[in-house]
Amino acid sequence: MKDTIKGFLDLVKERNGHEPEFLQAVEEVAETVIPYIVQHDIYYGKNILLRMVEPERLISFRVCWVDDSGEIQVNRGYRIQMNSAIGPYKGGLRFHPTVNASILKFLAFEQVFKNSLTTLPMGGGKGGSDFNPKGKSDNEIMRFCHAFMSELFRHIGPNTDIPAGDIGVGQREIGFLFGMYRKMRNEFTGVLTGKGMTWGGSLIRPEATGYGTVYFAENMLKTKNDSFEGKTVVISGSGNVAQYAAEKSLQLGAKVVTLSDSSGYIFDEDGIDEEKLKFVMNLKNEKRGRISEYVKEYPNARFTKGKTPWHETCDIALPCATQNELHKDDAKALLDNGCICVSEGANMPSTKEAIAAFHKAKILFAPGKASNAGGVATSGLEMTQNSLRYKWTREEVDNKLKDIMADIHKSCIEYGTEEDGYIDYVKGANIAGFVKVADAMLAQGIV
Ligand code: NDP
Repeated sequence: MKDTIKGFLDLVKERNGHEPEFLQAVEEVAETVIPYIVQHDIYYGKNILLRMVEPERLISFRVCWVDDSGEIQVNRGYRIQMNSAIGPYKGGLRFHPTVNASILKFLAFEQVFKNSLTTLPMGGGKGGSDFNPKGKSDNEIMRFCHAFMSELFRHIGPNTDIPAGDIGVGQREIGFLFGMYRKMRNEFTGVLTGKGMTWGGSLIRPEATGYGTVYFAENMLKTKNDSFEGKTVVISGSGNVAQYAAEKSLQLGAKVVTLSDSSGYIFDEDGIDEEKLKFVMNLKNEKRGRISEYVKEYPNARFTKGKTPWHETCDIALPCATQNELHKDDAKALLDNGCICVSEGANMPSTKEAIAAFHKAKILFAPGKASNAGGVATSGLEMTQNSLRYKWTREEVDNKLKDIMADIHKSCIEYGTEEDGYIDYVKGANIAGFVKVADAMLAQGIV
């Protein structure tokens, strides 16, 4: 088995050697899915995984725009259309200076499995730009988004590819992108998700990824007859996912003690309660400030520069910032301090070595492709409402989200339960996600 996996990975490395994040994501899937393929004749010998690691289409384009001082700026835009076997491409847009083909290919590859897990008919894609929104005026953001969409519009559509937000792309950016799409196409369709509530957005979509991450952790804890009540929770990030993961943790009776951004983390021993969280939401979403400003408002808290929060004592850890932000030594610190549950809000925040440590200690560990799937699932619900030209209530969408997270959890149990009863959620999510896409690809022939 080891040779089969190695042979496959060598081939992928030969073609994509300069893309470390993509290789990391493929390796994690290959190690769990190849043994399953080998045991199942219908998938064996058909190069299904080799077909799945090759994007159906990779679009790269120039984005020119003029900044406030009149200078012409040039950025690179991308859309990776990874797999459309079970539905139109679906996945977010990321605006961050680190964006490149490797990062977007890893995200698009993960998205294929994640979307399959949601049980909704959505293929996988991802896109974005190396544009840095930090420090830009609203007008600069608008000009960039318009320039970006003036090329992207020809590659997407409500039945082809439906982008959403991700790091650096929130409701403000989705608004500017949607405006330009509508103008170029002269049609009002649900081509983007994460839209504003008065122009096609779904209630609960802003909350969905963070809430879903907590719902998934709640499902995991239930297998141990446990809950969030009275637990101490450590969260990284302070953006969209982190904010709503914190909100739901509080609603379930937990105490949240950390949040972070790329400059460091804050620790509040008294707990970040609802009022303090409101301050953070205003600070990050309206003022676009730094998390360090929290300690000026709440002097009992402390700010640690340039570090992540994983060495603080907690019962539950929710990594909600970015990829590869939780390393082997962080995993060791979490385990030494008694952490019993890790649910990833971000995509691939834990390194391979960190995941191995969680598995060895047999704690509850959920990979992002399962635990953060609530975001894209609710995007799917937004698409359905757009097609129906109808709007569900907050409660209706939240209940559907809860059901979807419970179903994903069930699928992970089905494919990931080991002989000793331990649930390997990585294996479960990878195989469950794979089966549906692979079956569709087999049914549709070699295309
Ligand atoms: P936001 O842009 O709203 O927030 C991102 C947060 O992560 C910010 O606090 C940011 O800090 C921090 N961050 C970003 N890059 C780094 C870095 N290199 N090092 C340390 N901190 C960093 O993004 P989201 O909350 O939407 O996304 C967070 C994660 O969740 C991503 O991995 C994303 O792919 C994933 N995700 C998001 C979904 C969604 O619906 N939004 C759906 C599923 C997954 P700073 O402000 O300093 O940059």
